[in-house]
Amino acid sequence: MIQFRELNEESRRQRPPRAHLVVERGSGPLVRVAGRAAPCVSFCSNDYLGLARHADVVAALQQAAAAFGVGAGSSRLLAGHHGEHRALEEELADFLGVEAALSFTSGFAGTTGVLDALVDAAGGPGAARFFVDQLGHASARYALDRRGVAAVSYRHGDPRDLETHLARGGDSPQHQVIVTDGVFSADGLIAPVAQLAALARAHSALLVVDDAHGIGTVGAGGRGALAASGVAPGAIGLLLGTCSKALGTCGGFVAGSRDAIDYLRQTTRSHAYSTALPACLARATRKSLAVLRAEPWRHAALVRICEHFSRAARQAGLSTGASETAIRTVQVAAGDSAADLATRLLDDGIFLCAPLDPAAAALRITLTIEHEPAHVDRLIDALTRRAAR
Ligand SMILES: *Cc1c(COP(=O)(O)O)cnc(C)c1O
Repeated sequence: MIQFRELNEESRRQRPPRAHLVVERGSGPLVRVAGRAAPCVSFCSNDYLGLARHADVVAALQQAAAAFGVGAGSSRLLAGHHGEHRALEEELADFLGVEAALSFTSGFAGTTGVLDALVDAAGGPGAARFFVDQLGHASARYALDRRGVAAVSYRHGDPRDLETHLARGGDSPQHQVIVTDGVFSADGLIAPVAQLAALARAHSALLVVDDAHGIGTVGAGGRGALAASGVAPGAIGLLLGTCSKALGTCGGFVAGSRDAIDYLRQTTRSHAYSTALPACLARATRKSLAVLRAEPWRHAALVRICEHFSRAARQAGLSTGASETAIRTVQVAAGDSAADLATRLLDDGIFLCAPLDPAAAALRITLTIEHEPAHVDRLIDALTRRAAR
């Protein structure tokens, strides 16, 4: 018998449990954190462009829910498929410059489902060689671990290290797959997609880019890490993404060639054996994508607040890593812990989440267009005082 109480005690001995903090969103980036009287400025939201509360997106969801209901009722392979899904997929493909796309109920369902399907496409766990960036998102590693794939980790953002590993395979007849974040969720760096695509070509490997944080935030028009790196979408194998970050709604997707998407539509378990994304959410995301295209000032505003952060951090002598995107990190001093630092920052009215990985030695900051320069200055000031080494 699995003894949950004993397991809980054991895990509590290893590290304090993570609370599900109740955080109520106020206006702009202000939140109320349970147990705190004063509102705090949050730097933990991935709603980079403020689209989650955009009046047109909210209205689209409400109207579509009134028309279509909330739940989809069944899998898309049964009776859950709606014209809204097809329209969303066509519009996503058009925005990203690829032939086709397939949507999921979450980015996690997309990433894990697609990698799972790729393991089978490659001939099973033993037949394929998977290469993953060391700092890549947990969803990819999780999916490969579950299938018993011994993925090779290459050094973070380092195509030369990847090349060394690829070369070790010699003229291996096996299928090879390279998996990377586009904009890394862990530290905000943009992956060297051009070099990775060249390596993938040279070694007949499939390059899979998970650009959950890049789409909407980097590249011309917010088209993501590929656009930011001057790489044509057709030059990589598959593009994964989510609607839950810059698009401000919910649901994941995979995009690529029609052949690849046709295959994944038939074989991905998280697509086949899961109730469809509600059509009202597909409609809301279509509206959100339309707003992203019609209001390019949003992307420009994100770039401006990111530049403000870089300038203010530099002037304060605060070291925040090499990222220029909306994700930044602050190293925690030796002997300090990210969780303790986050608690001290709450006293200054700054809400930063300690990383989910307890071993992480950095606090993560996300910037959005709802932040004003004064909010960022307050953050930098608090960090300079509280995180001083
Ligand atoms: C957030 C994220 C996901 C998961 O997306 P959800 O829509 O939140 O499930 C997958 N991959 C990466 C790289 C992410 O950052």
